[in-house]
Amino acid sequence: MDNELIMLWKYQRADMEADLFEREMRGNPSRLKLLKDRDFLLEQQNAMRKIESDLAAMAERITALTADTVKAEESLRDLQETLEETEPESLDIARKSLDYCQKLMHAIGRMEQELQKIRKDSDVRAKQQHEVRVRAARVKAEFDKLKVVYDGEYKEQSSYLDSLRKRVVQAASAVPQELIAKYKLIKMHKTPPVSILTDDRCGGCNMNLPTVVMRSIRMGAESVDCENCGRIVLVRNPDEV
Ligand SMILES: [Zn+2]
Repeated sequence: MDNELIMLWKYQRADMEADLFEREMRGNPSRLKLLKDRDFLLEQQNAMRKIESDLAAMAERITALTADTVKAEESLRDLQETLEETEPESLDIARKSLDYCQKLMHAIGRMEQELQKIRKDSDVRAKQQHEVRVRAARVKAEFDKLKVVYDGEYKEQSSYLDSLRKRVVQAASAVPQELIAKYKLIKMHKTPPVSILTDDRCGGCNMNLPTVVMRSIRMGAESVDCENCGRIVLVRNPDEV
């Protein structure tokens, strides 16, 4: 059998082995768990930022409301004192002063209600903040521990993958460049790019080869192109030659 085709077959085996190992590396359970934890930690960070900005807004509102309440209470006290100490000039003025007193009392009541509500909301948010913090710290500790384990695994696996890739490069050096280029082109769509003829069919896509192609095989061709999937079809399995 044509040596180039045997070398191409060996190259493909090395290439597939390296690809498979790389896929397994990506699917490493530690790696997947780390990615999940990282996403979770990012989510917690965002939640934390939101809570912090909510709490800051609430604190600002509490300060403003407290100041307004103090001011309203002072005005009310002044007005009440004036009413107690001096006789109103007219009934109309007395009525207006009382109206104003009531308005101030209503305003104070409303502000106190709002303050109560904000303080309650603020407590709820602070509790959430604590929960997020505890949860994030737990996952972060888990993440850090796993990261150490994974980094060790990754280093080992990477060096093995490097050795596999080196073998691929070595195997490629025994195959004509244009054949490697063709292989890589097919690989972009179909993998593995080289198949074996099986019962007059392409071993890759399982389609029957056309009569004209079969004729060229009978004439001695050792490899043909599958018109259906584009693979290079070896007429015989180099391992069995
Ligand atoms: Zn095919």
